[in-house]
Amino acid sequence: MVFHKDPCGVFCILFTYALVAYADYVIIQHVILTTLTGSIWGAVHCVLFNTIIFGVLYSHARTVFSDPGIVPLPIMGLDFSDLHVQGKGHMDQSNGEDWTVCQRCETYRPPRAHHCKICRRCVRRMDHHCPWVNNCIGEMNQKYFIQFLFYTALLCIYALILNISGWMWMFGNARSSNADLLSRKSTVAHGIGLCIESILFGLFVIVMLFDQISSIFGDETGVEYTIHRSRKTRPPRPRKPRMALLREVFGYGPVYTWLMPCSAPGGTVRSLVPGSYDV
Ligand SMILES: [Zn+2]
Ligand SMILES: [Zn+2]
Repeated sequence: MVFHKDPCGVFCILFTYALVAYADYVIIQHVILTTLTGSIWGAVHCVLFNTIIFGVLYSHARTVFSDPGIVPLPIMGLDFSDLHVQGKGHMDQSNGEDWTVCQRCETYRPPRAHHCKICRRCVRRMDHHCPWVNNCIGEMNQKYFIQFLFYTALLCIYALILNISGWMWMFGNARSSNADLLSRKSTVAHGIGLCIESILFGLFVIVMLFDQISSIFGDETGVEYTIHRSRKTRPPRPRKPRMALLREVFGYGPVYTWLMPCSAPGGTVRSLVPGSYDV
């Protein structure tokens, strides 16, 4: 299990839990129990909404605690004093398609691995370090990260639909008692809060989701995109079918397991050569 003691990451995790708990409270207390009491649809929406929340929390936990593909350190220390003397060794300046040396970890690392300053380790096919999951997104946990984005986007859209439907019902069934007016004010206030939360985070995760999918189809991680853009050159790579690129992230199991957070981790581990670390 991996967990980094980064204060920003820990805060973001707790903030995520608080946002999910608030959304659940508003939907159950102020939408379903207010507008759908006694209806079978109340129970249906309650079960569906909490099933999606389970998907969000489970995929989030797997992204947080999974090994993103950390490059193991050699059993015995390696001597890279030559590279230190020369500054950045030629291996470190390669185009990322060969084995390189990480001078911070003092180890060899496979193609497409990059060093994360927050995790202080090299990660295979590192995409970026995400504070919302307090972990790197790499070869082994990108699948869970995409699942987390997908379920969060679904939750935001569903919350927005339920919220707006609740308002429509409420204003279409106007009653005039004082208790009703008070309850309606509180429902509207929480509804506005949830609308802002859903739109803000919904748009954010949808943009992130498209970004992840386009980086998979482009066969270029977030880190590689930044490096290639700064160097204004991209190393040639054989073109692969989109399905093959998706399978590198989601694994080689059946397609219906791609959105199941309980399924096996993605990643091909093809960058690892058995025995490569016996140095
Ligand atoms: Zn490193
Ligand atoms: Zn990291």
